[in-house]
Amino acid sequence: MSVPKIVCDRKTCDKLGEDGLIKVRSWLYAADCQTCGRPLGTDAPALVVSEIDEWALAELHHRGCRTAEWNDGAVITAPAGNTISWRAESALFPPRSESGKPSNCVMLIVNPSLEAVWLYPSPSGTWRPGYHAVFSAAGLAPSPPGTLVLRDRIASGVTARVGDDEIAAVFKQPTPEDEYAAAAAPQTVVSARAHGFLLVVTHALNPSDLASADSRAAILQVLAAIEHGQAVIGWASREAPWVNRPFQGQRMSAKGNTAGRGALRTFAFGFAL
Ligand SMILES: [Zn+2]
Repeated sequence: MSVPKIVCDRKTCDKLGEDGLIKVRSWLYAADCQTCGRPLGTDAPALVVSEIDEWALAELHHRGCRTAEWNDGAVITAPAGNTISWRAESALFPPRSESGKPSNCVMLIVNPSLEAVWLYPSPSGTWRPGYHAVFSAAGLAPSPPGTLVLRDRIASGVTARVGDDEIAAVFKQPTPEDEYAAAAAPQTVVSARAHGFLLVVTHALNPSDLASADSRAAILQVLAAIEHGQAVIGWASREAPWVNRPFQGQRMSAKGNTAGRGALRTFAFGFAL
């Protein structure tokens, strides 16, 4: 569950507006203080925003460690970044394909920063939370409304690493080998090894709250987040996309075209779970 209450100064409230503040709070979780690194506990944490340039970083701190503020001055206390918590969970779900054949699709659900979100100016003049540019650079994007698109959404900046009992999304940039890993059940490992997996990066869920992400309710929560634009997604292939085996078991064209022919299927939202 996102943090129930945060302490916010007047300037931050004005910069975000009422709607922005609600969305920022719903994307933050009371994990660790971004000053001392210790658990935030149950007291309302302070929201500290550092405006860098065309973006800003909003973080949670103990009120005893930092005072709530919007800092756009010359001196910014830059976060070290090593206090940010991320969570990942794997799931296997059976989308109903157009042919009606049973099939499995592996998802890796990642929240990359529980106590921090990035803010960007909106056309209305207020600031809105959004995803770090590293995710769009890797090929992740929101799903078009009403359809979970797997085809044409191969994330070329991400490689799927599949271990004996875990799966991981390995980002090629900005730091090679940066990865998000989660434990995976044997059947999930088999499917991920054959096809790769759908990487779902979201600030709207804490994967730890999904408990067993294979439960129907948890998967519906993830799909709802995708459907409502609360996640950026992309297909993580095990190797370069042009040598990856596509979802339907056909071999893709070896022309280096990430869209691929006869590649990953497009499934409508309407899953038979
Ligand atoms: Zn602290």
